[in-house]
Amino acid sequence: MIKERLVNGAFELGVKIDNEQAEKFAEYTELLLEWNQKFNLTSITDPGEIGVKHYLDSLSCFRAARFRNGDGVADVGTGAGFPGVPIAIVRPDVKVTLIEATNKKLTFLDEVRQRLNLSNIELVHSRAEEAGRIPEHREHYNIVTARAVADMRVLVEYCLPLVRVGGVFIAMKGPGVDSELDGARPGIGTLGGGHPEVIRLALPGTDIERSLVVIKKQKPTPDEFPRHGAKIVKKPL
Ligand code: SAM
Repeated sequence: MIKERLVNGAFELGVKIDNEQAEKFAEYTELLLEWNQKFNLTSITDPGEIGVKHYLDSLSCFRAARFRNGDGVADVGTGAGFPGVPIAIVRPDVKVTLIEATNKKLTFLDEVRQRLNLSNIELVHSRAEEAGRIPEHREHYNIVTARAVADMRVLVEYCLPLVRVGGVFIAMKGPGVDSELDGARPGIGTLGGGHPEVIRLALPGTDIERSLVVIKKQKPTPDEFPRHGAKIVKKPL
């Protein structure tokens, strides 16, 4: 039943899940619940709810951008793997880099990668703003995602430096994103982002509203950004 809900919900989002991939989601749920007893990974512990609020929510990213074969995707502040792991499960042809500051979450993600045999996942233990100053990561990714990481004004400085010119940043937000986004507009321009587009949707089969803020990278990010973490938070652009 839960599997059916996931497969049908994903289909509504334009994503096809085959049997092997559905098995991977089931195993991911088992690992989440097992590890959640040792340390806090998610407050959602009902498998059906995990399916909707974590998996389908993550897959809603496919409504925001076209993910092409061979694309590099970075998920900033991935935590227990959202949205990066669901993206990697359904699209083995894209390379997903999970960037996370907390080491114990990476230990969990490493277990997930091995058990689910996700060779298209790379793990990076770093703060996003530090990765954004390293040539290997700076302006390297076609698509950068982030869910529940920071306020838009701070988030754009974490994420836009990682996006290559022509690529997009997808910020996964709730329904009331507008005022938060307005505050971030000057910074988006400074960092090389274009005019943000907001895609509003309800998670399949629910009335849970979500907003996807999609920002295309139009120009390179000036060398002085991203600044150091404390400055980004204290004095957002
Ligand atoms: N994206 C996941 C989700 O939606 O379930 C996790 C959300 S959790 C509330 C925020 C995560 O972002 C934490 O795991 C935290 O360690 C990480 N984080 C916060 N700031 C970060 C930064 N500047 N660089 C990398 N990771 C960061």
